Amino acid sequence: MGWLCMVMGHKHAKRVWHDGVDFRARCTRCSEEMLRDDVRGEWRLFDPVRDADPTRTEKPDRQSRAG
Ligand SMILES: [Zn+2]
Repeated sequence: MGWLCMVMGHKHAKRVWHDGVDFRARCTRCSEEMLRDDVRGEWRLFDPVRDADPTRTEKPDRQSRAG
């Protein structure tokens, strides 16, 4: 995690996808996985333990060129 993320928080990419449960994106600065917390209405880091859910699907494609 970069210091900017520690100070200012993560900055999710504009390009997001839905994994079947939540909207997901990566931090544009440190590339950490993030998800949109619908309860709080804000983005936070994806926690692989707490957020584990078998109904989640992987990011559909590596469309890195499309962004
Ligand atoms: Zn970050």
